[in-house]
Amino acid sequence: MTLLNELLEYNTQFVKEKKFLEYATTKTPNRKLLIVSCMDTRLTELSLKALGLKNGDIKQVKNAGAVISHPYGSTMRSILVGVYQLDVDEVIIMGHHDCGFGALKPEPIIEEMKNRGINNEIFKTLKHSGIEVYDWLKGFESVQESVQAGVKNVKNHPLMDDSVPIHGLVMDPETGKVDLIVNGYEY
Ligand SMILES: [Zn+2]
Repeated sequence: MTLLNELLEYNTQFVKEKKFLEYATTKTPNRKLLIVSCMDTRLTELSLKALGLKNGDIKQVKNAGAVISHPYGSTMRSILVGVYQLDVDEVIIMGHHDCGFGALKPEPIIEEMKNRGINNEIFKTLKHSGIEVYDWLKGFESVQESVQAGVKNVKNHPLMDDSVPIHGLVMDPETGKVDLIVNGYEY
């Protein structure tokens, strides 16, 4: 059986047995909080449980590295939609130690793209269009600095409501322990 079929089969049972009832909640976050965190597999449940949060408590935005790299990209848009339409009163940018994105080097990714058949011409075309794939795929040196930069980018965004506290945390992906990087109430 393929993975997709396995998921679909499980889903049929899930719905039939009304297992969804224990997850019933609304589309606005109970804790009025939005957290940007990394897509790291270790954080899927740990990042919520370690902060005492459950389904329905927060808006969760995930990407590789929990970075806010573009002021008008989809992560920043999600934050603004959360604040202006979905009852979000506070935002946390949460990076983590041992982040795969932090260790990211563009060279092996580009090499692997080429190995899988992405033509060199495509990289040239993108470069002509002003897209520097190399820079775009570069990770960060320090997770603390990346979180600080993320907080700053959100806080200083021209469309952001000044009164919304933007906090910065770094989580240990093994123990769930967080270090406070930026206290948004003081920032
Ligand atoms: Zn990560």
